[in-house]
Amino acid sequence: MTQLEFKTAMSFRYGHPEPMAPGVVRVVAPNPSPFTFKGTNTYVVGTTTLAVIDPGPDDPAHRAAIMATAAGRPITHILVTHAHRDHSDGAAGLAEATGAPILAYGRNGPTNRTASAHMPSGKEFVDHQFTPSIRIEDGARIDGSDWQLKALHVPGHAPDHLCFALTDRRVVFTGDHVMAWNTTVIAPPEGRMSDYIASLERLLKRRDRLYLPGHGGRLDKPLRSVKAYLVHRQWREQAILAAIRDGASSIPEVVARVYSSIDERLVKAAELSVLAHVEHLAERRLVTCDRQLSLDQRFAPA
Ligand SMILES: [Zn+2]
Repeated sequence: MTQLEFKTAMSFRYGHPEPMAPGVVRVVAPNPSPFTFKGTNTYVVGTTTLAVIDPGPDDPAHRAAIMATAAGRPITHILVTHAHRDHSDGAAGLAEATGAPILAYGRNGPTNRTASAHMPSGKEFVDHQFTPSIRIEDGARIDGSDWQLKALHVPGHAPDHLCFALTDRRVVFTGDHVMAWNTTVIAPPEGRMSDYIASLERLLKRRDRLYLPGHGGRLDKPLRSVKAYLVHRQWREQAILAAIRDGASSIPEVVARVYSSIDERLVKAAELSVLAHVEHLAERRLVTCDRQLSLDQRFAPA
C-alpha cells in the first residue's frame, strides 16, 4: 500500500492573523471537526484594498476577527472556493458588513448533477441556496489595487470548486481540492472522481510553489503532493478493480476487501469513496452495471 504523509502539525491561534506570503494572511475559524480539521482557513489578500477568500462559517467572532485583520482597509471582494457551509456560510454576513460582492462559480452550473436518494454524500454540508452576487468561471481575473487573482475551475470535491491563483506569484489558494492534512473527500453525486483526477492533473501542468489550502497548513512542495495524491488514487483504483475481478460485486463487498481494518464510523465515507472509484471505472467501461450505480447496486467486471 502506498503511504501518504500527512502534515497534521499546524501552529496558529484562532482569530489571529498569520502571514503566509507577502500580502497574504490566514485567519483560522473556530469550527474544528473530523471534516474541517482545526477549522476553515480564511485568507485575506492585499495590503491596501483586500480580498477575503472563504469567509468560513457564519460566526460573529470569526467575522470580527476578519474585520480586525482588515483594520479599516476596505474589503472589496469576497471569494468563495465552493458552496460547502464551512466555506460559504459566512459570506452573506461579511458582505453585509463590508458592502463587498460575493464572487463564486455558483451551484447551478452545467456540471451539477442531481442528488439521488440512494447516493447520500453529506448533503447537509452543501448550501444549495448559495447564490454569489457575481458568478465567475474558469479563467476569470479579479483585480485589486496591488493583487490579481485568477480563477481555476477544478471540479471533483464539489462541482463548483474554484482555486484562486495569485498572478505572477506562483501561489494558489486551493480550498478543499488539495490539502496537506488529509486526502480530499470525493463522495458522489457531489464529488466526481474523473473530474477530480483531471483537476489534479491540471495543477501538475502549472509551476506553482505554494498552496494555501482551505484546512490545515500550507503546502511548500505542492507538486510533489499533487503527484502523491494521483498515485494514491491510482493505487486505490487498481485495488478496487482487482477486488471486483476477484468477485466483489457490491460497494460493501469491495470495502470489506480493500480496507482490511476500518473504524466503524468511517465505513460510510469509505463506501462513498469506493462508489466514486467504481463510477469512474464504469465511465471507462471497465465495470458494468445494469442500472444507475448506487451503494446497493450490483456490478460486474467488464
Ligand atoms: Zn471544507
